[in-house]
Amino acid sequence: MEKLIYEKSTSGRRAEVLPRVGVPQKPLSELLPKGYLREVPAALPEVSELDTMRHFVRLSHLNHCIETGFYPLGSCTMKYNPKVNDAMAALEGFREIHPFQPEEQVQGALELIYNLERSISAIVGLPAVTLQPAAGAHGEMTGLLLIKAYFEAKGDTARKKVIVPDTAHGTNPATAAMVGFEVVEIKSNERGLVDLDALKAVLGPDTAGIMLTNPNTLGLFEEDIMQVQQLVHAAGGLLYYDGANLNAIMGLVRPGDMGFDVCHLNLHKTMSTPHGGGGPGACAVACRDILAPYLPKPTVVKTAETYSFNWDRPESIGKIKGFYGNFGILVRAYAYILAHGRDGLCQVSRDAILNANYLKKKLSRNFTVAYPQNCMHEFVLSGVKQKERGVSTAHIAKRLLDFGVHAPTVYFPLLVPEAMMIEPTETESKETLDQFAEIMIGIDNESQTDPDKVRNAPFNTPVGKLDEAMAARKPNLRWTPPAH
Ligand SMILES: *Cc1c(COP(=O)(O)O)cnc(C)c1O
Repeated sequence: MEKLIYEKSTSGRRAEVLPRVGVPQKPLSELLPKGYLREVPAALPEVSELDTMRHFVRLSHLNHCIETGFYPLGSCTMKYNPKVNDAMAALEGFREIHPFQPEEQVQGALELIYNLERSISAIVGLPAVTLQPAAGAHGEMTGLLLIKAYFEAKGDTARKKVIVPDTAHGTNPATAAMVGFEVVEIKSNERGLVDLDALKAVLGPDTAGIMLTNPNTLGLFEEDIMQVQQLVHAAGGLLYYDGANLNAIMGLVRPGDMGFDVCHLNLHKTMSTPHGGGGPGACAVACRDILAPYLPKPTVVKTAETYSFNWDRPESIGKIKGFYGNFGILVRAYAYILAHGRDGLCQVSRDAILNANYLKKKLSRNFTVAYPQNCMHEFVLSGVKQKERGVSTAHIAKRLLDFGVHAPTVYFPLLVPEAMMIEPTETESKETLDQFAEIMIGIDNESQTDPDKVRNAPFNTPVGKLDEAMAARKPNLRWTPPAH
């Protein structure tokens, strides 16, 4: 086990020495009330700068990351994000500005927000956009608040139900419930798609709308999407498109053209900010004209060549985030769009789909494919065959770590027993995909020849098999210094 930095401490060693101050100093005991003073000095680690640096760099390498290995975590799009976009976000004119600066001093930032909104509008085919939400689920909330405000303004108070297919991302029903709608789940058909009869059965004058994840969490394009649209609109409801994983359709089809009224896309995941890396996200919500008056305020407007915030929006749902969203993520997304251009964005989606289908095909002999038709940017395998040999999906996920690969998303979607949701992303090479397939097939072989090995994995990671119940219930997060 890695030594803790406290354990590397040597009395008197320092990382840096501050110069003496040139003004008279009073002792702390005169500056602070007695109750605030320690009686015994804190046992802080005493280490040199070099040791400190080595310690933290080594720690940073204990976690798996895209910089060191393949990361096929389904629905998270753990792809490589070009470093040049980080450099753009770090430009002084973006990094050093303050949200309270007068508008005339931050014209460049406002122009970027404005242009990014226009680009997103073109990509999803819906006219009005906000970039305020901090993440995908926050965008869903924003979108549903628009729908709610729309029906309230019309005095149509009966529309309290939001339909959510069982193949939706888990955030969809959670969001609908949080916004105060009643969630109506509909089962998918045997092909893993929206069952039109099930949909017809729940539509009515109480339908506020449907939240459709497309591609759904099985990685499948909703083939009857136009009928879904017509049915929901005919019943007076609105359609929400969960486009978190826009790398599946970017440049190929547009939610606006498919008749959707509001949609979100995650700028993290698709547009150059890693998802789940602990940093902030950002989400664009785009909508049709009928919902635009309710968008959060302020909006960025352009008059002649000048950009400004417009707070005069009486029907707006209000502010949903401090200042104007997570600006650094917006810079990365804009740089990503400009670097790719129209054709490049289209190619991103084509490559994401190609990589997923290639890998699915390579693995289909050894693993059960949950749904056989072609997938979009991701696919779901079932580990039922391996489970019969006593090797569960959780065991396979742990064994993968031994080969320097992050596990896929496991046990989700819930529809598929022993599910493994694999998203290779467009940024990986054929060689990496081949290598991953070889590792997976090797584990399948082990499940027949040496199942105990898979069950006891991992062996090569900084920590071995954890007691997950204990780790969740009684985490030991605290280091106590040895008594002096
Ligand atoms: C990731 C994801 C979300 C939620 O996005 P967060 O940024 O994690 O809140 C919603 N829907 C789908 C389909 C997703 O993949």
